[in-house]
This record gives sequence, C-alpha cells and structure tokens, in this order.
Amino acid sequence: MQFEGRAWLAIDAHVRLAADEYSELQACGAFLSDIIIPPRSHAPTGTNVTNRDGVRQIRTATVNRRGAARWKDGGHPWIYRSDVVRPAEGAAGAVHVVDEGGGRVGTALWSPSSQIALRLLSREHVEPDAGFWRARVAAAVRYRESLSPDATAYRVVHAEADGLPSLVVDRFGDHLVVQMLSAGLEVFREEIVAALIDTCAPAGILARNDVPVRKLEQLPEDVALLYGSVPEELEVREGEVVYLAAPWTGQKTGAFLDQRENRVRAGALAQGRALDCFSYHGSFALHLAGRAEHVTAIDSSADALARARHNAALNGTRADRIDYVEANAFDYLREQDASREQYDTIILDPPAFAKRKDSIQAALRGYKELNLRALRILRPDGILCTFSCSYHMSTWLFREMLESAAADAGRPVRWIEWRGQASDHPEIVQIPESSYLKGAVLQVV
Ligand code: SAH
Repeated sequence: MQFEGRAWLAIDAHVRLAADEYSELQACGAFLSDIIIPPRSHAPTGTNVTNRDGVRQIRTATVNRRGAARWKDGGHPWIYRSDVVRPAEGAAGAVHVVDEGGGRVGTALWSPSSQIALRLLSREHVEPDAGFWRARVAAAVRYRESLSPDATAYRVVHAEADGLPSLVVDRFGDHLVVQMLSAGLEVFREEIVAALIDTCAPAGILARNDVPVRKLEQLPEDVALLYGSVPEELEVREGEVVYLAAPWTGQKTGAFLDQRENRVRAGALAQGRALDCFSYHGSFALHLAGRAEHVTAIDSSADALARARHNAALNGTRADRIDYVEANAFDYLREQDASREQYDTIILDPPAFAKRKDSIQAALRGYKELNLRALRILRPDGILCTFSCSYHMSTWLFREMLESAAADAGRPVRWIEWRGQASDHPEIVQIPESSYLKGAVLQVV
C-alpha cells in the first residue's frame, strides 16, 4: 500500500513540475484559490478577435498529441506549456484548442505566461459568453443546494472541480469572497461577477487576489471590492456555533471553510479536557466547548487569537470554557509532554508543511512530531482529530506517518474514522489537485 501511495503521487515528471508550481494553492485549502479586481488593462475581451471579414472569431491554440490526450476520456483539465505547439496569438482569454491535424480538442482558458497554459472549459468548441458562465456558476450553486449545508458559510465554487478553472467563490452569509487565479479567467471577471449576482443575489462581492500564485500569471496581487459592500467582519453560523470571518484581512478568503464538517464532528466527539492546536480564530475550540469541560486554544498569531476571543464572546456560555494561548504548538506540546499534562481531546490542524514535493521529508518529521506528542499526552480513551492540508502529503503518507507516531508512542491506537475536506469542496477523481485535506480520528485505547 505504501508503494501505491507513492505511485499515486508520481504522475510524470512534467506534470509534477506544474503541480509544484501550484503548491501555494494547495496550502490549506487554497486549491486553485484568492481576487482584487484591478481595472482590466489587457484586451477588453480575450475571447475573440475580429478576422478580415469582420466576423468575430475565437483564437486557436494547437497542442501536440500528448497535450490533446490529457483531455480525452474525462482526463485532467490542464495542458502544459510544453505541449502547446502553436500558442494562441495575443493576450490571455478563451481559445479553441486543436490538435496538429486540425482536429477539435476543446475550449480553454489561455494563460500566456504560466506553465499551465490551457485550462479546460469544454471538450467542444464553444463560445464562453455570459450565458456560459451563468450556467457553470448555477450548476455549482445547485450542487451546494443539494448538500443543504447546516451553515451560512461554505464554498460555492471550487475551481476546476466545478468546471470553473482557477475560480474560487466562498459564501459568508449574504456576501461572497472570490479568487481569480489565472490570467485567462481574469479576462472574464465581468461575466463571472454578473453570473454570481444573478445566481446568488449577494449584498457584496470581494476579490481576495492577494495570492502569490498570481505572480506566475503576471497578475497583480491585491484585494478589491467588486460589487455592493463587504464589511470588515462577517458573522456566520456553523452548526451550533457563530463566528466572525475577516474577508478583507483574514487568511484565505476570511476563514478555513474546508474544515467545516470536521469541526462539527470534532464537537460531537469532544470530551473532558481539550486542546485545539493551530486554532486560528478558534473555530474548532468553539465546537469543542459544547461538550468538553475546558478547552485550550493555541495559535502563534496574536491577531487570530484576538478574533478567537471575540468569537467566543458571541457564543455566550461556551466562552467561559476556553483559554487562549499564543504559542508555537511544537513547543507547547513538548512542554505539556514534559510536565505530564493529560488531555481527553486534541485537535491538530497545522498549516501545509509540504508546500513543495521536495519538502515532504521535512514535513513528515513535523507531522510526526506533533502527532507523537499528542498521542503521548492523551488519557486512555482520549480522542485525536488530526489533519494535513498539504496536497503533496498523500493519504497514504499521512497514514504511514500516523502508524509510525503510534508505534513510537508505544500505545495502542484505534482508527475511528477517516476524514476529508467538506463536501462543498468537491474532489474530482481525475483531478488529484482538487483533494488536499485529509484527516483521521484516532483513539488511544
Ligand atoms: N484550525 C483552524 C485553521 C488553522 S490554519 C480552523 O479550523 O479555522 C493554521 C493556523 O496555524 C494559523 O492560524 C497559523 O497562525 C497557525 N500556526 C502556524 N504555525 C504555527 C505554530 N508553529 N504554532 C502554532 N500555530 C501556528
């Protein structure tokens, strides 16, 4: 099984290169994720050029056989620059893709400066007009409606996994926060904003495009209001808990929505004395406080903890049961172990340690250190909810790491259940990059 796990990561060298380029996106849920919408400085429409006869005609890019094969049979939606034989002329936008024999391959977003040159929009030659974007957004919204999330904050569009390459849209009640992560997509900003207004009727839309991955697309990194108004803080509900998200300044789009279902589950499993490591603005801690007698929330960010205290106050009695500690979680766990403190429930939700494939070994050591300490300081019957949001840390590697930590802890440990990202962050089998968050619930017996 270990071998299979590694093979799963292997793909081919050339795919790995581009996947690494996108490692930033996979940091804690940012798969294909952040938007400011600067004034459009490039061509007003990247979709069409006018030919000699005055007929609007979409541009064409030609790909080699390997490139064309990637989209066949429900395959992966990216074609890399090295497989583009003749690039589309001009600026970023939508292009029709053909093979070297002139055969139709599909329609794509074209990013002239990125390794990921072509992002699949359709396997047909289509015109991605306002109706096209509205239909795609509406389909993504329908899927979320079918999930009936017991929350007012959840992901509405998960990029390629919703057929909307490099677009992320998170809903915080009546407000939307979007990220447009490729040059090809940015060209359709107006159509996308119109589609979101049409399908979601938001009070405001904010673009959190302050993400480094936009550099690869030669796009500016900034934050901008695209529509209506968006306050500094937005109060949202998640199961029985309410919290404030910070859309303008918070991490990602203002909250880590990918952990939504896991937080509710952890709340249901919580008992006794609890520890929430890497707490950010305290959302696991708030859920734990529903059942646990006492919760300690640890984070290295004073700003995040300040909002965590505020969030606790919004939840009334739960607030009295939570303490906040600004600390390095590695140091804190080591100290707790050294002083033989004991807990009944521990959450480990660290940031992505393996941002690149070549940092997996170092990341594994970090994950193991955390999990080993946590297993050592749990009382018998104690519960550990442990996660990794590193795309490069496969489920198999994560499992092996936990096996090794449990062995070193020298205690019998029971698998209770496997966890993943919330179902509003869909995972597409053919798109490994759409799956990044994995987790396990373990019990020391
Ligand atoms: N559990 C949170 C999300 C955690 S994101 C939620 O469900 O909303 C990761 C958090 O880890 C960030 O808030 C970051 O400030 C914090 N962090 C990063 N390195 C840390 C360290 N060494 N010790 C403690 N916190 C750390």
